[in-house]
Amino acid sequence: MVRKTDPGSIAPVNRVIPFSAVDGPGSRTAVFLQGCNTDCKYCHNPETRNMCLGCGDCVAACPQGALSMEPGRQVVYDWEKCVFCDACIQTCRHGSSPRIRLLNAQETYSLIKRQVPFIRGVTVSGGECMLYPEFLRELFVFCKASGLHTLIDSNGTIPFGAFPGLLEVTDGVMLDIKAYDPGDYRMVTGGDNRAVLENAVFLAESGKLYEIRTVVVPGLFHVFDTVKKSAALLAPYCGSGRPDIRYKLITYRENGVRACYRNWQPPSRDLMEQLARTAREEGMNDVIIV
Ligand code: SF4
Ligand code: SF4
Repeated sequence: MVRKTDPGSIAPVNRVIPFSAVDGPGSRTAVFLQGCNTDCKYCHNPETRNMCLGCGDCVAACPQGALSMEPGRQVVYDWEKCVFCDACIQTCRHGSSPRIRLLNAQETYSLIKRQVPFIRGVTVSGGECMLYPEFLRELFVFCKASGLHTLIDSNGTIPFGAFPGLLEVTDGVMLDIKAYDPGDYRMVTGGDNRAVLENAVFLAESGKLYEIRTVVVPGLFHVFDTVKKSAALLAPYCGSGRPDIRYKLITYRENGVRACYRNWQPPSRDLMEQLARTAREEGMNDVIIV
C-alpha cells in the first residue's frame, strides 16, 4: 500500500480498468475501491472486502519481489514490478489485497484523464464505494468538468440522502437489491436491507436510480419474491416522461466465489426468463438478463 500525503479525501484504490463495456452505458473507466460493509456469500471479488491487516503472508508468495514490509506492519506494493499473477490474493486469508494505492481524487482522476477522449463516463464500484462519499464527490467534480457521465455502483446500505453534494455531481446509481425479504437479505449478506429499499425509493424519486440488480442464486433466497416486490416498488417511477429504471437480472456463476460458498448451481435460462417476465408484469419495461 502506497501512502500519499496530497490534500483532499483519500480512498484505497484497488484497481482502475481504463475501458469497460459492462459498468454502465457506453465505454467507461471503472474504478474499484477497497473495503466493504457487507459479506455476501456469493461475492465475486472477495479480495476487495477488507483492508489489509499487515500479516505479511503475501510478501513471501510474490514471485516478483513486488511486495515488502515496512515497519508498522505495512505492506509496500511496487506496481512496476507486479505482473498481476494474483499469487498474493490467493495467499491472503483476510479477504484483502496488498495491491492497494491510497489516492486522493486528483491522483485518481489522473488515471482517468488519458481516456477522456475515448470514454463516455466513469463508474466507481468496490468493495462498497459509498464508504468514501467525499472522495467520490471530489472525483466526480473532476469528471464532470471533463464532460463525463458519472455512475456509482453501490450495495445501497449507506443513505444517499445524507450526501446531497455528491448527488449533484452523480448522474446515476446502480443499486443492488440482493434480496427483498429482510431475513433473506440477512442470510445472503449478514446485514440489514432497510436502507437499501429506502435508497431505492429515494433515488427513484430523485431521478438518480439508473439501475437495480439482483444476482439470481437458486436456493439461496426467494428469488421470485425479490424480483416481484422490487419491480412493484419501482415500477411507479418508470415511464410517463421519466426515463425507465433498468432491472438487471444477473445469472449467478461460480467464478471467483470463495470455495466454502460454491455449493450453489447457476440458474437455468428458463428461470431467468421467468423472472424477467415477472418484473415486466409488475410494470418494469427495461429488464435485461446477463
Ligand atoms: S499479483 Fe503482483 S504483487 Fe501479487 S504476487 Fe503477483 S506479482 Fe506479486
Ligand atoms: S494483503 Fe492479506 S496476506 Fe497480505 S499482508 Fe495484507 S492481510 Fe496479510
